[in-house]
Amino acid sequence: MDREQLLYDINELSHLFRESATVETLLNRAVEMVAARTQADVCSIYLYNPEDRMLTLRATKGLNPEAAGKVRLKLGQGLTGLALEQMKTICEKDASRNPNYFFVPGIFEERYEAFLALPIARGVSRMGVLVLRRGGGECFTPSDITALETVASQLANIIENAQFLLGMHQSHQDVAGAPSIELKFVKGRTAAEGFAYAPAKVIDKQKSLSQLLHHDYGAEYTLADFHDAVSRTAEQLEALQEQVEERLSDAASLIFAAHLMILKDREFVGKIVGRIEAGIAPPVAVAEAASEFMQGFLASDSVYMREKVNDIEDLAVRLVGNLVSKSEESYVSRDHVVITRTMFPSDLLKLSSEGASAVILVGGGVTSHISILARSLAMPMVISDAFELLSVPDGTPILVDAEMGNLFVDPNDEILQRFHSQQNVRLTLDEQKQRMRPETMTPDGTRVRLLANINLLTDLKPACELKCEGVGLYRTEFPFIVRTNFPSEAEQYVIYDKLAKAMRGKPVTFRTLDAGGDKILSYYHDIKEQNPAMGMRSIRFSLQNKVIFTEQVRAILRAGAEADLRVMFPMISSVDEFCEARDVVLDSIDTLARQGIPHNGNPRLGMMVELPSVVDLVEDFAKEADFFSIGTNDFIQFMLGVDRTNESVADFYLPHHPSVLRALNRVVRSALEHDCDVSVCGDMAHQQQYVPFLLGIGVRTLSVDAAYLLRTQQTILATSIRDAEELAHALLAHSRISDIEAVLSAQVLPA
Ligand code: PEP
Ligand code: MG
Repeated sequence: MDREQLLYDINELSHLFRESATVETLLNRAVEMVAARTQADVCSIYLYNPEDRMLTLRATKGLNPEAAGKVRLKLGQGLTGLALEQMKTICEKDASRNPNYFFVPGIFEERYEAFLALPIARGVSRMGVLVLRRGGGECFTPSDITALETVASQLANIIENAQFLLGMHQSHQDVAGAPSIELKFVKGRTAAEGFAYAPAKVIDKQKSLSQLLHHDYGAEYTLADFHDAVSRTAEQLEALQEQVEERLSDAASLIFAAHLMILKDREFVGKIVGRIEAGIAPPVAVAEAASEFMQGFLASDSVYMREKVNDIEDLAVRLVGNLVSKSEESYVSRDHVVITRTMFPSDLLKLSSEGASAVILVGGGVTSHISILARSLAMPMVISDAFELLSVPDGTPILVDAEMGNLFVDPNDEILQRFHSQQNVRLTLDEQKQRMRPETMTPDGTRVRLLANINLLTDLKPACELKCEGVGLYRTEFPFIVRTNFPSEAEQYVIYDKLAKAMRGKPVTFRTLDAGGDKILSYYHDIKEQNPAMGMRSIRFSLQNKVIFTEQVRAILRAGAEADLRVMFPMISSVDEFCEARDVVLDSIDTLARQGIPHNGNPRLGMMVELPSVVDLVEDFAKEADFFSIGTNDFIQFMLGVDRTNESVADFYLPHHPSVLRALNRVVRSALEHDCDVSVCGDMAHQQQYVPFLLGIGVRTLSVDAAYLLRTQQTILATSIRDAEELAHALLAHSRISDIEAVLSAQVLPA
């Protein structure tokens, strides 16, 4: 048996699924593939429906094909049912001799003696069974079994998607008799939650530019048309810039200004005019001049240069759009699902200000700040590596379910209806406001504080309306990321002041610049690091660049003059680092006092717990720091050595890994023993299945994105501390991930 080829093929299956027409095709291909690679006479897949506890034969190679959809077994019935019931592989040399053997007439299975049934499961959820048979005295060997168990677990991923499509959990649906749902479905990964249903707009700039170059425009356009297009483009860009400034005052600076500058660049315009006068069609002249301009930057590795190329491409496409069409083309993405390859933060801000409905990012991972930004902009975003999406004709309706990471290309009415009803369940901000209680209390009377994570100032409105009790994490890096240079102290002050004022005396936690890693400052991070997540980033960066750090600290202290101010340092790895950062704050307070500038002279100083190196020093840190905020996103990444932005290792990124749970417990307990405030501000704080655990280990402050405030409150309202402590106790006792998953999945959480 060709194991390597088999595993490779199965991996390929997931690609097939992305482009697959129907689930049937997928399952049939899977059984054919496995049968061929394992030299088995029969390979069948049964899928399980937990509602009626029945298994249905869904695809077979080697048995009577008519049996698919008709053969049904109860859980525990026959060797196949037993394998799933007991969640264990069953291998028999001669199946008919086993007392549990169940004879199914008419499928001709009895011709083959050797039998192998492998449960297909995700954690503790039963999904189906993979069954193989061989005749002629050929048994399955232990190494066959090992390889096929891997296949079964890969199939589990694929079938999970299939089950979603089939709506198998809907009890009224008889799967065997259900009409096959013909649709184009792509399974992606959620970067920012939400739904959208809108026509597609593919923005593949490289393609657009080369199309412009090679199109035959005849003699249709003149120099005057070009000048007219320039002024219309300038007007549109100015309007967009104004609009973006109104909505996103902290992030907007210069988003469209770079385009305007290129548009007004005499050399650029001169090159185009020269070409037009030499007889080249104006759209081609624009594309040629843009390409020539870009040449200088293309070879560079620097993000800044690549961003420049991006700006020139953008502008050229917009300019030609205005040249060839007199219609209002400025909002190309309004009310569209934009499908694109690459994305800079500024692109996302542009799409948001143009009114795009959702974004699908094809190929490449997504940096964490892009997804955080998308969340703040309420822009549903899904990442996929199905490049075929770039060939979807513009205007094709796309349903983006960015809750599940699912994409439906031209979905049928049934799918649409299902999503409309789901969307109706989503509450508007007003409805959430009505339901939100001013105080969060467990049923047995323990008070829990719910704070907000703020990324952009636009997050303040929902956070305040939903009565957050303060800001537990303000990610100051966003104004840095979207600019073309370090924002000055004065610029930062203006932004921070808005935040402090909006919170009116409630605690406001400023996290100092967390740059580096995947939060690239394009104008600074010129040197490509082999391993940026562990490179010159975060507090390391700030301590190495004390002028920049001091400017930020001064802006924070000044803006927080009247506030309940907390300053927090990211990625602290040693007590020395914490003390050095604290000294910068204390020195800045001295200087501001000497200069007579109003400021906060007594902020509380704390740190993020994001690195495993903190765990064993936690008591020592607790003596120095006023508070801890646990950043579970990075904590899990570094604890487990799993890149949080790498889709291919996402299955290893486990918040409930026993080491993570025990380390969190250790940090929280020690903090409490030393009277050091502790909160959680990473994603675990809003993930419903983990909130009871966090309460159980003693966490009483959670900081979450505004979108999760209500849901988190509802989870807390339904969790007594007694139950939470029992749960935490049970979880901490286990050393196996599977046992922990079993305990977690037995929780009953509010809908
Ligand atoms: C974290 O790491 O959990 C965190 C809150 O910080 P960020 O997501 O900004 O890295
Ligand atoms: Mg972090």
